[in-house]
Amino acid sequence: MAEYDFNAPRLFIDAPLRDGEKVALDRGQANYLLNVLRLKAGETVLVFNGLDGEWRAEVSVECRKAADLLCRERIREQDRAPDIVYAFAPLKHARLDYMVQKAVEMGAGVLQPILTRRTQATRVNLERMRSNAVEAAEQCGILSIPEVREEENLERFLKDLEPDRLVVFCDEDAPVSNPVEALAKLGNKGSRLVVIVGPEGGFTDQERALVAARERCVCVSLGPRILRADTAAVAALAVVQSVLGDWN
Ligand code: SAH
Repeated sequence: MAEYDFNAPRLFIDAPLRDGEKVALDRGQANYLLNVLRLKAGETVLVFNGLDGEWRAEVSVECRKAADLLCRERIREQDRAPDIVYAFAPLKHARLDYMVQKAVEMGAGVLQPILTRRTQATRVNLERMRSNAVEAAEQCGILSIPEVREEENLERFLKDLEPDRLVVFCDEDAPVSNPVEALAKLGNKGSRLVVIVGPEGGFTDQERALVAARERCVCVSLGPRILRADTAAVAALAVVQSVLGDWN
């Protein structure tokens, strides 16, 4: 990414991107470019839609409130989102916003809220999660918008999982041991993964047994201290990406 233009603003556009294609901006996007960033006609914006890679586009101003973008050249081919499902007990408000953004930055391809016995958030605002995921992707040069799924209870979620998907179960009660070795023993690079992180109150023993009953499951410790759930998201995905994901 050395030649990458980190200064140009990046926008997710839900429309086809092709050479010479004019893409309309919604009011929010036009306001952001014209009035917040004060871009002028002809200035560059990077756009992506999750399918056609990333394009350099130019602002074409209609009026103070409306603008379009003209696709000029593709600067990055579309890549494949990593096959990592991040399954987590939803937290409340700002902590959930933070957790969603970090999971996207760390390369989760699917965000799956799971309801466990001690999950405190009862309702999950999927639209809010989706906009946080888009914002994280725009800010971090990510080309695919992770899929945000409807909340599921843990038991149903485990039942529906593909048999070959390796479950990385972050258990706050696990005896302290090296998570890197635990993962390296069971998985190999490119494995299809699901990383599970529990709620503020941790997992119950029944839930522990449910997860451990799965054939392809590795229970990992994230060290001798109990991490906050949103911290555990970053720690777990860092270990997973460095051993089995796209960090090596
Ligand atoms: N009470 C704290 C932390 C609860 S533990 C809070 O308010 O967030 C939240 C989840 O993070 C656990 O269910 C587990 O999935 C993960 N976790 C936290 N510390 C961990 C550790 N040392 N090892 C493995 N997982 C951990």
